[in-house]
Amino acid sequence: MSQSSTETKQEKTPEKKFSEISVLKFGGTSVKNIARIQHVAEIVKERLKHGKVLVVVSAMGDTTDYLLKLAHQCAKTPDQRELDSLLSTGEHISITLLSMMLKTMDVSARSVTAYQLGIFTESVHNKARIIDIKTDSLAKAFETCDALVVAGFQGVTANGDITTLGRGGSDTTAVALAAAAGAKYCDIYTDVDGIYTSDPNKIPKARLLDRISYGEVVEMARLGAQVIHPRAVELARQYGVILRVRNTFKPNHEGTSIDGGEDMEIYRSISGVATDKDQACVTIMDVPDQPGIAARIVGGLAKKAIVVDMIMQAFHPTAGLNNITFTVASTDLPQTIKTLEELKTEMGAKAVHADEDIAKVSLVGAGMAGQPDVAARLFETLGAAKINIKMISSSEMKITCVVSRGQADKAAKLIHDAFELEKV
Ligand code: ADP
Ligand code: ASP
Ligand code: MG
Repeated sequence: MSQSSTETKQEKTPEKKFSEISVLKFGGTSVKNIARIQHVAEIVKERLKHGKVLVVVSAMGDTTDYLLKLAHQCAKTPDQRELDSLLSTGEHISITLLSMMLKTMDVSARSVTAYQLGIFTESVHNKARIIDIKTDSLAKAFETCDALVVAGFQGVTANGDITTLGRGGSDTTAVALAAAAGAKYCDIYTDVDGIYTSDPNKIPKARLLDRISYGEVVEMARLGAQVIHPRAVELARQYGVILRVRNTFKPNHEGTSIDGGEDMEIYRSISGVATDKDQACVTIMDVPDQPGIAARIVGGLAKKAIVVDMIMQAFHPTAGLNNITFTVASTDLPQTIKTLEELKTEMGAKAVHADEDIAKVSLVGAGMAGQPDVAARLFETLGAAKINIKMISSSEMKITCVVSRGQADKAAKLIHDAFELEKV
């Protein structure tokens, strides 16, 4: 029976078929131009001294943004199947160029798309999850090469349609392949030294973390830290793959190791601040205060694969009506409004209101639970700077405040300073 790795169901770790394999992923900035592709090829060649190498690459630089722009010039709401097929071409270009470059360096390299390798996903466009990668097909692909260069971000459905995994999804491809191969590590090469306490391009004082737990990075990534795709970290945790986030331009630097980190709380209770400006807030006004209303709203959106977050309900005691407010990703806003407008009449609600002037600023840490002074200090910091908090949510590992988008960077910086995260 062939082993497989999947995002959609829990399975045991595959047998260690390729335990000597190195799995390396290079992001868009790392393969931005031919000089950088050459640099990546040199890193791959160096790794081949230790055994076979599986390389996952993203599209060159801003190619995915450029392709999206082209699609929107052709259609206001591009057909999702065609859009995924178009977006997948970005990664197709990178794998062929890197393989060609490796071959000129006498490396036995071979490029494969998700279709060729068999990275099977759900039949959902834009944010498909990986269902299956057969270890056998990986083994077969390696029979004829030492360096297998795989297109990130893309998948294929059982019907042969091309899908994409969501922006930043090449990280998830890499981890899924590392899991399928039974590799111990997956190295994510990017343009910074590793995971910092906040985005180092926005907060120069941010501190590089040499180690962080899966749970903390999942939160940071979900809450806007672009450095790694949250689903990649979830998958790594599920299959016990140790992630190393490293700098392509400093290949000997250790970077940040992401692992179980059970003992980390002893070292620090707060690990970072994340900002997400790609968020919007939606309010359904005057919905009757009846059982089942929230389920209809969230259920209706779930059918369109829209994730609803930070749900708040405000009650008007006299009228027996509620206002229900929640946040969604900005890219899901048009579809959210369309769906709610359809549900509005059916539910007897008065209006649907959208606020795009929002951003989430979140404090993340494994040791925050049970420390009430953390929340108090966070709110005091924003209050003292006259930054209005529009919504709040908290869980064991995070506190999120929704603020006006224009104030988000300032808020993150003030929070970083208030908690002295440069010293963690
Ligand atoms: P790639 O093209 O390699 O996938 P990304 O642009 O997706 O790279 O991610 C790297 C970027 O993530 C960095 O340049 C940095 O600006 C941003 N970033 C945001 N939060 C963090 C953080 N906490 N630590 C490190 N980088 C971060
Ligand atoms: N090229 C895709 C993007 O820009 C996927 C990735 O880079 O991980 O989002
Ligand atoms: Mg990325």
